[in-house]
Amino acid sequence: MILPPATIGVLGGGQLGRYFVLAAHKLGYRVLVLDPDKQSVAGQVADEHIIAAYDDVNALNYIAATCAAVTTEFENIPADTLDYLAGHIPVRPNAAAVRICQNRRLEKRFLLTHDIPHATSLNITCEQDILLSPTSIYPGIIKLASSGYDGKGQQIVENKSEALAAFSQFNSQPCVLEKKLELDYEISVVLARDEAGNIAFFPVAQNLHKHGILDVSVMPAPALPDDLKTEAERITGLIAGKMDYIGTMAVEFFIAGGQLLVNEIAPRPHNSGHATIDACYSSQFEQQVRALCGLPLGDSRAHSSGIMVNLLGDHWYPDSDDQVKTPDWPALLSIPSLKLHLYGKEEPRPGRKMGHFTILAGQSTDWAEIVATARQKLS
Ligand code: ADP
Ligand code: MG
Repeated sequence: MILPPATIGVLGGGQLGRYFVLAAHKLGYRVLVLDPDKQSVAGQVADEHIIAAYDDVNALNYIAATCAAVTTEFENIPADTLDYLAGHIPVRPNAAAVRICQNRRLEKRFLLTHDIPHATSLNITCEQDILLSPTSIYPGIIKLASSGYDGKGQQIVENKSEALAAFSQFNSQPCVLEKKLELDYEISVVLARDEAGNIAFFPVAQNLHKHGILDVSVMPAPALPDDLKTEAERITGLIAGKMDYIGTMAVEFFIAGGQLLVNEIAPRPHNSGHATIDACYSSQFEQQVRALCGLPLGDSRAHSSGIMVNLLGDHWYPDSDDQVKTPDWPALLSIPSLKLHLYGKEEPRPGRKMGHFTILAGQSTDWAEIVATARQKLS
């Protein structure tokens, strides 16, 4: 067990890392952040921010010498970095798990191996793969096998010629081609798993996306029937178990034609779990700290329902004249059950996640109206 005031490390310094730091501080740990970006929002609040590349050997040796254990908040940390650190200190989640989650092909192979239903896809390595693709896969979505996020690195394609054009736009890097499904709705299951294999599930969230970016998460998921909830938890627990996963993990699911399909696995806390900060006894970040340090897991249950709304940089540009404006925070904060979170990012850009707010909605179920009311105040 790693006890406070030990120093623990986090690889990656975005908002997920920031909340990890804040949760670790509450428990009395010191935290080191590794992120090459000197404006890292986790680095701002950490005890130490190492500004270096994720494969910088000097930085990794320093982390190995300074930190009692290390975790990650960003799935594109080179898996070799995690392997290297694991030779010196506990690394949770393990490199093999992260390696699978950072590549859509490995992820789909893993799901196939364990007989877990998912959106089936073709691997696209060369143009020939597209020319040979069955027409039944169209309309489809071509996705970069690695490094995509927030809908980036993917393109809807209606036919083979559009798929060829998209593949060439992606510089012929390895891709997958999925059928574009008619989705009933989307959910995510966030869990924390400790070294002994105990699992704490957070309430399942229902997720609405806009332009491929998460827009709203409602926790617990209003549309999800109990049998699908149980099945989604079973699958997520199975994935975590098969990966020997230690830490907080999220699985995104599609529900299409009443069937659950795994979309993707995040080896870290998840944007759709942000409502856990304000609505659960232990947040997804507190659980990440506990699992990393070998502490008993906390209570993942919610004391209220939570509606989380992302605040993208677009809100800073409400007019067509491209002028930066600050959203009307006092108006938004006039909703007493609303918790505003801003990440400390200096530069708002369209599509950039600048913050979010969570409305603690008690037992209220009319989430669409609650969101609409809050949005009106914002603009
Ligand atoms: P990201 O890494 O950007 O989150 P995802 O693969 O999760 O990439 O895709 C982002 C969103 O795009 C999904 O949450 C979903 O709304 C939509 N999407 C992705 N794949 C499909 C698909 N095969 N059919 C229908 N919608 C999809
Ligand atoms: Mg996704």
